[in-house]
Amino acid sequence: MSEAQVSLKHLFRVFTKPEHKDSKLAQIEQHLSDNIMDFLSQHVVTKKTSLEEIEKDFSLASVPESPEFVSTHAESLLEKLVAHSVNTYSPTFIGHMTSALPYFHLPLAKLLVGLNQNLVKIETSKAFTPLERQVLGMMHNLIYDEPEAFYTKHLHSARHALGAFCSGGTIANITALWVARNKLLGPQPGFSGVAKAGLAAAYRHYDINNLGVICSKRGHYSLSKAVDALGLGREQLLTLPCPAQTLRPEDALKAGLEYQQQGNKVLAIVGIGGTTETGHVDPLDELADVAKELGCWFHVDAAWGGATLFSSTNRTKLKGVHRADSVTMDAHKQMYVPMGAGMAIFRNPEDANSVRHHAQYILREGSKDLGATTLEGSRNGMAMMVYSTLHILGRRGYELIIDQNIEKAQTFAAMIQRHDMFMLTTAPTLSLLTYRVCPTSVQNAFDVATPAQCRQLNQNLDRLVVAVQKAQREAGKSFVSRTRLECAELGGQAITVFRVVLANPLTTEQDLKNILEEQTIIARKMRLWKELDDNAREILSHSG
Ligand SMILES: *Cc1c(COP(=O)(O)O)cnc(C)c1O
Repeated sequence: MSEAQVSLKHLFRVFTKPEHKDSKLAQIEQHLSDNIMDFLSQHVVTKKTSLEEIEKDFSLASVPESPEFVSTHAESLLEKLVAHSVNTYSPTFIGHMTSALPYFHLPLAKLLVGLNQNLVKIETSKAFTPLERQVLGMMHNLIYDEPEAFYTKHLHSARHALGAFCSGGTIANITALWVARNKLLGPQPGFSGVAKAGLAAAYRHYDINNLGVICSKRGHYSLSKAVDALGLGREQLLTLPCPAQTLRPEDALKAGLEYQQQGNKVLAIVGIGGTTETGHVDPLDELADVAKELGCWFHVDAAWGGATLFSSTNRTKLKGVHRADSVTMDAHKQMYVPMGAGMAIFRNPEDANSVRHHAQYILREGSKDLGATTLEGSRNGMAMMVYSTLHILGRRGYELIIDQNIEKAQTFAAMIQRHDMFMLTTAPTLSLLTYRVCPTSVQNAFDVATPAQCRQLNQNLDRLVVAVQKAQREAGKSFVSRTRLECAELGGQAITVFRVVLANPLTTEQDLKNILEEQTIIARKMRLWKELDDNAREILSHSG
């Protein structure tokens, strides 16, 4: 655009004039709403482009001097950004918790952005505040199932909060532990409480060396951020080994007692309701007992697995979750809501008051402003997306999807077990499993190999898994992720495995067969595979 055209008049039109229907942006908009899958397959290129290559398109640090036509800009977005995005809708993209979304989120997103409400304060949100409170109530009800009178009393009460809506599981975990910390180190005669006096004064007043949080090694790294941000320190996150993938209550109790004998205090035990790496669920009921015995807070991180509560058959896998003081849920994982929707739910509606904050021009005392008890300030109305999805799918709709995901994981697990090229490393509790390439010859060799030979075989299998995962990702047809795990079946040794999340309702059994087939072809072509096979045969022949 030329200098002459940079005028307030032109800029004013950006605010007021809708796009002409032939403009590039309007075309994109139309294509997205007509058929998002088609849009993605047309514009997202699967061809391998290095990150360095892409960075070249985003290398200027100076702010563009002159305005640009919207159409021109839309064109450049398609080319630089959309083309190199990841097609999360692809049914063979099964490596992460991010998957396809129901189509109605696109028009709803327009409504959300169009209304541009700010949930920090009722003056800028009005109906969105009661809606968000209702959504929190629905999640509270799903977990704690309190009688109707409880919700009538607390749902819209200015002095209570059933939870805190936030941008994701990380902030939800921080919020939950923040509430726990402020409650534990609250005001007493002669002490104004940690929120006002700070942590150092609180430790002195309560005569505590350190405050700690207990979870298993599978705890999400957001817990480590939480103890850091809350001033406890990362060393005070006691991550206990869990070779069977879940936290053993007796280990938690022992660690807690030892910690407290050293003049420390356990702030919270965190049970995981579906670990990010393997989908295992900690024994929540037993951990609630341990928390009671230690006199500490019990938090359940169900960011990913919480949606299992919609299923009447599978919800028993989270048995004991209702005994948690707080629960983290991510609607942008298994609740099929776009990114940016997390919740910390509190069993006791008074608890959030331990972090309540007032300010003169905003968040006045006695107001129903949600911002008074949330960590974040200005927030958009993402709760509407949760509200709408809850209505459009209903509990029974969610149940069907969740049950189907779990069944699909079981089907895939059986497929892997039957296959002579693969070995299941963790069976699915929910819809997540891990496995590795491991030819039958190697599986047989393990039975007779010496510990040193086993270590050697495992090292080579790890390299093979890494190589296959990379080659498959680069080929661009399908994607599984990979992680490192200690496996009880392998004497607690850490191994590299493929990680699969069956969250995309569009993934079919045939897609899963194809993924294994592709991995088989990739692996068989590798020298590493040949070496492993030879090595295994040699071990077997010597064992006579
Ligand atoms: C994803 C996840 C988180 C973090 O949530 P974000 O929304 O990514 O911040 C925390 N805990 C568990 C168990 C998770 O799966």
